[in-house]
Amino acid sequence: MTEATQGPHRVVIIGAGLAGLTAATTLVAASTERDPIDVLVVDKGRSVGGRLATRRIGDATLDHGAQFFTVRSEAFAMAVERWLAEGVVEEWCRGFGEVDGYPRYRVSGGMNRLAKWLAEGVPVVTRRRANAIIPGPDRWAVAYEAAAREPDEADSIIATPPVPQTLELLQAGATVLDGDTAQRLAAMSYHKVIAVLAELDRSPELPPPGALQRPDHPVFSFVSDNQAKGISEVPAVTFHLSHELSARLWDHDNEAVRAAIADEMATTLGPANIVEIQIQRWRYAGPIRPDGESSILAATRPGPLVLAGDGFGGSKVEGAFLSGLSAAERILAAATGHGSEH
Ligand SMILES: Cc1cc2nc3c(=O)[nH]c(=O)nc-3n(C[C@H](O)[C@H](O)[C@H](O)COP(=O)(O)OP(=O)(O)OC[C@H]3O[C@@H](n4cnc5c(N)ncnc54)[C@H](O)[C@@H]3O)c2cc1C
Repeated sequence: MTEATQGPHRVVIIGAGLAGLTAATTLVAASTERDPIDVLVVDKGRSVGGRLATRRIGDATLDHGAQFFTVRSEAFAMAVERWLAEGVVEEWCRGFGEVDGYPRYRVSGGMNRLAKWLAEGVPVVTRRRANAIIPGPDRWAVAYEAAAREPDEADSIIATPPVPQTLELLQAGATVLDGDTAQRLAAMSYHKVIAVLAELDRSPELPPPGALQRPDHPVFSFVSDNQAKGISEVPAVTFHLSHELSARLWDHDNEAVRAAIADEMATTLGPANIVEIQIQRWRYAGPIRPDGESSILAATRPGPLVLAGDGFGGSKVEGAFLSGLSAAERILAAATGHGSEH
């Protein structure tokens, strides 16, 4: 229990993706005069969002990480209701190719806008790369890459990068994890995905709603016309290479990637021509097998250290949201004696 006289309970959250921002907004909302919580979110990226990523190429706007999301849990449904009411998200379709009646949601203006909208109410510093999580005698310290920058001290830490990156931060700070946590986390690995972004001179010939989802296709697992989706002013297509092909081409240069997909891309696009093309590599696109818990209390000394992100619980956008929520609840339970397990 934090006494007001000791100052607010200070939480540093590493990562301003959906998990980190959900944890942050939950903690900010739970802060009271009696149990004040001081939250700081840091991210190494130029902007917030992580894998909720949207890029501009000329007049084109393309989602190049997550493309859409679905809703299964009650907790996520409640948040999505609010986002729908605020006009941040919209229903995109009820299936790709085959209509199954199950809503798929898009974010108005591109997936990254959801992160920007969530970040409005919380202190976030971008372009700040943590390089170590260090346990001190009384508090944690998060050290940064720029040697000139002072570490941030915290009573609690929530780390939301993909697990292998979080493990590097813990190792760099000589943090010892409780129980068998280290072993459990060392076993986690992620799919790689290569994304190809193309601005076109005319609309591609894709069936409604302008996207193909093909988990078993050998070349492209997902193809999306961002103009038909309603986020780009001009024709622009995102291609996600299959997990197998992404892994096979990972160490090849961009020219080799283009050559390997050229025929399939031409067939998919029909008569449309490419104006500009960019390639983005996601080393940690999604966990191969997420941990069963929505978040992990990895250490309790000198204060709670909670690991979260889409590697925990259900994966994907909904999993990241639920993990952020669960992490915040763990901190609240430890810091105020309130909160419930999620
Ligand atoms: C190509 C692709 C397609 C996808 N498609 C879908 C989809 O259609 N539907 C769906 O539901 N999900 C999809 N996903 C998954 C979804 O995007 C993720 O599950 C979700 O966005 C993860 O959120 P997160 O907060 O856990 O992680 P992230 O968004 O990765 O956030 C982690 C953050 O930590 C930051 N960080 C890392 N290390 C440090 C450090 N040392 N210091 C400071 N900051 C650091 C990163 O910059 C990042 O912003 C897709 C993902 C990819 C890559």
